[in-house]
Amino acid sequence: MKYIDEFRDQALAAGLARAIAHEAGTGRDYAFMEFCGGHTHTLSRYGIADLLPPTLRMIHGPGCPVCVLPIGRVDMAIRLALSRPEVILCTYGDCLRVPASDGLSLLKAKAHGADVRMVYSTADALALARREPGREVVFFAIGFETTTPPTALVLREAARQGLANFSVICNHVLTPAAIAAILEPPGGNAPQAVQIDGFVGPAHVSTVIGSRPYEAFASTHRKPVVIAGFEPLDVMQAILMLLRQVNTGRAVVENEFTRAVTRDGNLKAQALVAEVFEPRPGFEWRGLGTLPDSALRIRVAFTAWDAEAKFDLGYTPVPDNKACECGAILRGVKSPIDCKLFGTVCTPETPMGSCMVSSEGACAAHYTYGRFRDLPLRASDTATPANQDTA
Ligand code: SF4
Repeated sequence: MKYIDEFRDQALAAGLARAIAHEAGTGRDYAFMEFCGGHTHTLSRYGIADLLPPTLRMIHGPGCPVCVLPIGRVDMAIRLALSRPEVILCTYGDCLRVPASDGLSLLKAKAHGADVRMVYSTADALALARREPGREVVFFAIGFETTTPPTALVLREAARQGLANFSVICNHVLTPAAIAAILEPPGGNAPQAVQIDGFVGPAHVSTVIGSRPYEAFASTHRKPVVIAGFEPLDVMQAILMLLRQVNTGRAVVENEFTRAVTRDGNLKAQALVAEVFEPRPGFEWRGLGTLPDSALRIRVAFTAWDAEAKFDLGYTPVPDNKACECGAILRGVKSPIDCKLFGTVCTPETPMGSCMVSSEGACAAHYTYGRFRDLPLRASDTATPANQDTA
């Protein structure tokens, strides 16, 4: 398949693995963060970690939209859906299973009588509002810069049509702010908690915002960024490009994903987003705390379609479950296997934390594709079968 098979070629992968091993053979250690959950999924699904030298470590980043959604924002939607029978709460499938307070999730709230529905797109939610004029349709919007333009589009469309029974709870967040927070934790000059030598930059987000927004912190923090596509060879090529930058003392933004990403991104989408949204002064991220200018809110001109204003929804921060290590995983400080609940109490069918919900979450990706790698090999696994000819 054009643009798929070429980026999964086994022989090319073997060649790239050799080039990476050669470039990393300097006697030092390397640590790169893949910011985006899509890359975490690719690394796990295609076993890329097994092709990397032991001196090179990949660290999961906070780029999974479901994972960074704090409990308090899900609670807000649950409270609304349970307390207002006229409300139909719509959202994407993964959001429904994110654990919230009191053992609830949006899905469990549905079992308690709330009218919660899964939609495949923002347009589905808008169409539902047209079909149900006697109900209040509220879309619980999440995601990074990739999913923001479709939300902006339906808000503008609802305003154009004067659709008074449609509104949005906006949880859209911004990638550059999160990367900056990892490099420079808020609250002073706290030392960086984890060694990071460079970033594999997001693919879909960058198709919208372009590569330009990463340039400032690549130079300020002296951390290279290589934007990569989601296929296995994309990710391996990006790792090789990062190694070459580190080894030659460079720290710039490079673009491996030239087939979809430009320096300036999608200007039309950016203009649409700027028309409907403005930066929030502060927004809480799971694991990263409250970050300034790291999320978007709906502009005053669209207040009639802003569910937070329309239903007077207040936000109450809620601490994560003490046993859950999602926060540390999202900061790159811990791995899924560092959590005592991983694979026992917490599985994709019974998620206790947000990182186990979406296939882009670090825990879900490791559970699905990597958990058997953690098991110690038994002698019988490596012994030569008695009847096998070893000559
Ligand atoms: S295994 Fe579950 S509880 Fe533990 S960090 Fe991952 S998502 Fe959170």
